[in-house]
Amino acid sequence: MFSDLKNKRVLITGSTAGVGLAAAQAFARQGAKVGLNGSRPESAVSATLAELRAEGFDVAYFQADLAQSAACQQLIEAFVSHFGGIDVLVNNAGGLGGRKGLESIDDDFYDHVMNLNARSALMTTKFAIPHLRAAAKSSGATSAVISTGSIAAREGGGPGAGIYAASKAWLHDIHRNWVKEFTADHIRFNIVSPGTIDTAFHEDKPQEVRDRIASTIAMGRFGRSEEVAPSFLFLASHACSGYITGQIIDVNGGQMAP
Ligand code: NAD
Repeated sequence: MFSDLKNKRVLITGSTAGVGLAAAQAFARQGAKVGLNGSRPESAVSATLAELRAEGFDVAYFQADLAQSAACQQLIEAFVSHFGGIDVLVNNAGGLGGRKGLESIDDDFYDHVMNLNARSALMTTKFAIPHLRAAAKSSGATSAVISTGSIAAREGGGPGAGIYAASKAWLHDIHRNWVKEFTADHIRFNIVSPGTIDTAFHEDKPQEVRDRIASTIAMGRFGRSEEVAPSFLFLASHACSGYITGQIIDVNGGQMAP
């Protein structure tokens, strides 16, 4: 179904665990060349890389702390130097960054959460654009940017997660601007917006809180990373979604129907 993803050069930020790793595995299974990224050194993810390579996948790891703009640039340069270009960028790196109510928020906390979720995607996309433009031109199809948004962007986030929710709403919205700027270059921009997915993101929650959240989901349970991954494939595949840009796919088990 996603056969045009074979040999596509796909960079997935924040892909050492959770949703990003599941997406990396899904792209690799389609025969894509996949760049994984995290802020930790390669030695910290060597077991994950070994497992992927044992399956015959063409993967490479690029360490970069994407909360810093210079690292976003270095990541793109390293990926392009290794794979020769970029066809698909998945901006997935992100996280809650802690919880603070409005009266506890200071400049450091604001910068920390916004840099992790907004600056990271902004700067990585900025430095990827020339390569995505070139890839679209040489393939005669579209190249794609897909960012991981959040249900929090739509409903405001949980207690103390206001900046996180706003950073994801920022991401949802800046995609709409990029559609206006880069559709002439045959680059598509779409969002995968997860609901509550069972990853390290929720590891601080006691079982009773998890049960309460699960009861608010129509399907009665958290989602799995593997259930989010196929939406990235769909939005990356020109054959499947070549006429889809500026959209948000909500993968949330019916937790919300925007
Ligand atoms: P996760 O903690 O398992 O994965 C986060 C990934 O981001 C990891 O690979 C981590 O190494 C990487 N990362 C963190 N900080 C980084 C940095 N500064 N530079 C580069 N990489 C960094 O959590 P997840 O749930 O898989 O989260 C993936 C994305 O999904 C995030 O953007 C998150 O906000 C979003 N999301 C998650 C949920 C959920 O319920 N799990 C819901 C909505 C959105």
